[in-house]
Amino acid sequence: MTKQEDFINDPFLQDSSSAEKILTDASLVCTYDSPIILHIPHSSAFIPSELQDQFIISPGDLEEEIRLMTDHYTDELFAGNSKDSAVIFPISRICVDPERFRDDAQEAMSEKGMGVIYTHSSSSCAIRRALTVTERLRLLAEYYDPHHARLEALVSEKFKASSRCLIIDCHSFPSKPLPYEFDQSTDRPDICIGTDEFHTPKWLTDEGVRLFESYGFITAVNRPFSGSLVPGRHYRSNQNVFSLMIEVNRKLYLNEDTALKSVSFGRVQEIIQEVLEPMQKRLEAQCIQGSQIF
Ligand SMILES: [Zn+2]
Repeated sequence: MTKQEDFINDPFLQDSSSAEKILTDASLVCTYDSPIILHIPHSSAFIPSELQDQFIISPGDLEEEIRLMTDHYTDELFAGNSKDSAVIFPISRICVDPERFRDDAQEAMSEKGMGVIYTHSSSSCAIRRALTVTERLRLLAEYYDPHHARLEALVSEKFKASSRCLIIDCHSFPSKPLPYEFDQSTDRPDICIGTDEFHTPKWLTDEGVRLFESYGFITAVNRPFSGSLVPGRHYRSNQNVFSLMIEVNRKLYLNEDTALKSVSFGRVQEIIQEVLEPMQKRLEAQCIQGSQIF
């Protein structure tokens, strides 16, 4: 029996409620001085009422698109049981996607109508009416810019405290590829580790892979998704701002048809914490030593 089968059959999984913590106003959860920041961009399924008239598909189709595109419960999965600081985007990525570049010219997904402001669905159907320039700028000013400002401020704060920080870019992905995805391979890993060639040192990638594999997870690097977010001010300019994306295959913790948690949710949440703790300790030790860790 593999370790993964072990945890799927673990009787502990029958009650995951004890490990759960509901995050209420959780756009910014700042806790103790861990050098880790959890960036959680896609957990919300909320569409503010003032934005609902922008969408031109039926309420049922919109609900279905949100089911497909939301990284359900990743706020709880990564931050619900954690002492690390978290920056959580408060509305659905369907409205504004904070993971995309602000400028469509820099963003590859804008070709698919899924740049910072989506115009098309995951199956390439038009979902939104044409926005005015003013409407577009308002969306960026009200949602995108404050989110990135919070993240940048937290990076600066952590950096001031310990001269380095680690952004964990927290996501989940469907077990079967959606039509918009570049990688249509069906042999999807359990965990996808995303890296940035400037901000992700090799030791960090190796540690992420080693730790998840120690729990029996099939882990892949930059497949089916690649990259890891760093806010603009530090992007490609400060190599002591580290970043690592962790994408969890939704089949591990979710009933993907209903978007409800599966019985495995609590255990997967625990494992994520067990993976982050050694990363944090290693980073803290190196902060104290002030050593070069590339
Ligand atoms: Zn995501």
